[in-house]
Amino acid sequence: MALKSVPTISIVIPVYNEAPVLALLFAGLKASLAGLEQTHGAVEVVLVNDGSSDASWSLISAQCDRDPRYVGVNLSRNFGHQFALVGGLETARGEVVISMDADLQDPPEVLPQLVAKYRDGYDVVYATRLTRGRERWGKRITADVFYRIIEKVSGVTVYKDTGDFRLMSRRALVELSRMREVHRFLRGMVPWIGFPQTQVFYDRGDRAAGETHYPWHKMLALAFDGIASMSTAPLRSAYLLCLLLFSVFIGYIMWVLFDHFVYGSPLVQGWTSIMSAITIFGTIELLMFGIFGEYLGRTYEQVKQRPLYIIAEVKHGSNDPSSPPSTPS
Ligand code: UDP
Ligand code: MG
Repeated sequence: MALKSVPTISIVIPVYNEAPVLALLFAGLKASLAGLEQTHGAVEVVLVNDGSSDASWSLISAQCDRDPRYVGVNLSRNFGHQFALVGGLETARGEVVISMDADLQDPPEVLPQLVAKYRDGYDVVYATRLTRGRERWGKRITADVFYRIIEKVSGVTVYKDTGDFRLMSRRALVELSRMREVHRFLRGMVPWIGFPQTQVFYDRGDRAAGETHYPWHKMLALAFDGIASMSTAPLRSAYLLCLLLFSVFIGYIMWVLFDHFVYGSPLVQGWTSIMSAITIFGTIELLMFGIFGEYLGRTYEQVKQRPLYIIAEVKHGSNDPSSPPSTPS
């Protein structure tokens, strides 16, 4: 099968310890790839191995040997989903680039719908899930609250129930590549880019195999990262807290004076109130220090200007020796 030097469509898939699911993924992609090729031209699949400790890379490598449409990118270690994704997006050469997960929760059958919207003139097309399979209700509610907060604080439209399953045009991708922030929240950064954006809907299933890599603490970290990387609202919350406490304590002082002058209560009283004032102000000051520190740390990490990911090896599908070397970040 001859491969055009520049494919029309690239599909980017980050892979971290997905050995149990990869064979299913390759099988699942097969029909969709053939369909896309027929209607739109050459397709490539970029699989980014994000420092897996299982057999994922050798499976990816073997797939590249079997199928010239596959490109394997081996990162030097585990950089995390968002960075693996950027590594893949920047290696991809397609006119349009679609990112999806390896576990088939993002069904390949949706791919033609995404491309159809691109043909209608949209630069970014999000795949939005209608149901979330058997995901626990806890995850549903937290996700819901999170989307609301992020919209409020960031001021950009973050499409609800939309993960990293999306299509981007070349020009949108070029703009995304100019955003080198270390604390990345792609789901907020992509809407920020602008250009015509839209969504398509699909039913989200469960992982085809293996375990989720997003336990509770990682979800929380991602949520805070999202909020902090899209806005400085937590910093500004200092003003609000101060105002609130100020009015509470002004009220309290007026009451103390009234009590003394009108009812003649003795002034030396109120161990409890002094203690609560000290504790409340102390805690709030520490909390604010913590938030300042968080932003200061982020600023520090950003000014270091390290690369976002490091590629150890790129493996192109066997029939494609002419492919240009990729450009690391
Ligand atoms: N992933 C990755 N690096 C990581 C964690 C996850 O590349 O450190 C990949 C993983 O292989 C999958 C995608 O990111 O393709 C989403 O992860 P997962 O399915 O575990 O998340 P969930 O769908 O449960 O939110
Ligand atoms: Mg998943």
